[in-house]
Amino acid sequence: MSVALVRYQESSGSFKKAVELCNGFAGLRCDHKVVIKPNLLAGRRKGPPVQGTTTSAAAIEEIVEALQEFGCHKIAIGEGSPVLPEMGFSTPLSFRSAGMVDLASRRGIELIDFNEGPHEPVEFEGITIRISQHALHADFLINAPVLKTHVLTKVSLGFKNLKGCLDGNSKRKCHDNLELEHAISMLATRVQTHLTVIDGIYGLQKGPMGFDYHRLDTLIVGKDALSVDMVGAAVLGVDPTSVIHLQEYARRNGRTVDLSAVDIRGEKLADMVHPLEWLHEWPQDLFRAQAVEGVRADLPGYSNCCGCSLQLYLALDKFARDNAGAKFDGVEILIGKEPVAKSESKQLFLAGKCPMSTHRHFKDAIKVKGCPPSYAELYQALMEHAKRVES
Ligand code: SF4
Repeated sequence: MSVALVRYQESSGSFKKAVELCNGFAGLRCDHKVVIKPNLLAGRRKGPPVQGTTTSAAAIEEIVEALQEFGCHKIAIGEGSPVLPEMGFSTPLSFRSAGMVDLASRRGIELIDFNEGPHEPVEFEGITIRISQHALHADFLINAPVLKTHVLTKVSLGFKNLKGCLDGNSKRKCHDNLELEHAISMLATRVQTHLTVIDGIYGLQKGPMGFDYHRLDTLIVGKDALSVDMVGAAVLGVDPTSVIHLQEYARRNGRTVDLSAVDIRGEKLADMVHPLEWLHEWPQDLFRAQAVEGVRADLPGYSNCCGCSLQLYLALDKFARDNAGAKFDGVEILIGKEPVAKSESKQLFLAGKCPMSTHRHFKDAIKVKGCPPSYAELYQALMEHAKRVES
């Protein structure tokens, strides 16, 4: 299994070089419908996209240019970003923010919002998951994730990026009804990708959200999805044998996660490794960064939906910034099903349906209803508490 590992240099044909090294366009025909699936987690209404969080327009442009030179004329970029109406988050916003709308209009290609359907039901061990037909039935599917770490799954690369091909309810099932790593490995078995391109122009430390990005100028390209993710993990300093969804996929498909089985072409792996931390406690880090004391929020576990985490991240970040240096006493915010209220906590906040279901008997807790809980309501409830403490 060959994987191209190349240094990215703007406007120098880095992607084409990588494709040549790994014979990445083998099987591609000019009349194929090609779908490129970037990772566009969420857009921003103002300002440029956060590097390392979303696949860059530069990487996608190189892919489109190479496809058009090859003779392909039916090319689309498809994504299903989290839909959070309160924050205005949607796939169209992600497309605009990431520069895909400009790119599509310049290059004459299509943009597909996977959330709009159609989706095809697929059984995952008795649980029905609905996958975008655009992704399932593309003649040539190019999976283009960004090189990032992930607080739960260690890495978020090609396999994890396929979750964006599911409808909203199915994404939730991956966290709730199925074990997340298990769901990712099954999804990779069901969705056939013809090429994986990891955009490592920037890599993200302490992902999948945040601003801790690092310029790495790396592209990792190959036809074998498992091998590409193994090399991606190694570049991030994560041993692929320690990534559960890679291990599980390999076991299910009679493969190995031993890197020595991968034929890495181009740069030497040792020269491209740039270890980035994946383990972090993002809720607590937000308070630490603003020197806010006396507020605790444990890391939500595997069951927490990505859109929910994103919304709560933004609410806690705003609250922490607006209360920089403040001292509270025994405030605890519960997010997701796994965290359990501490006996020493004096004021409990239950953010959403999940902690409310696991802490029904906490009558004095401040409950922020919703699934996902409202960004504004959580922020407001915390601010009201802050005002009470102050007065
Ligand atoms: S409350 Fe949040 S984590 Fe729980 S099911 Fe709803 S969206 Fe998912």
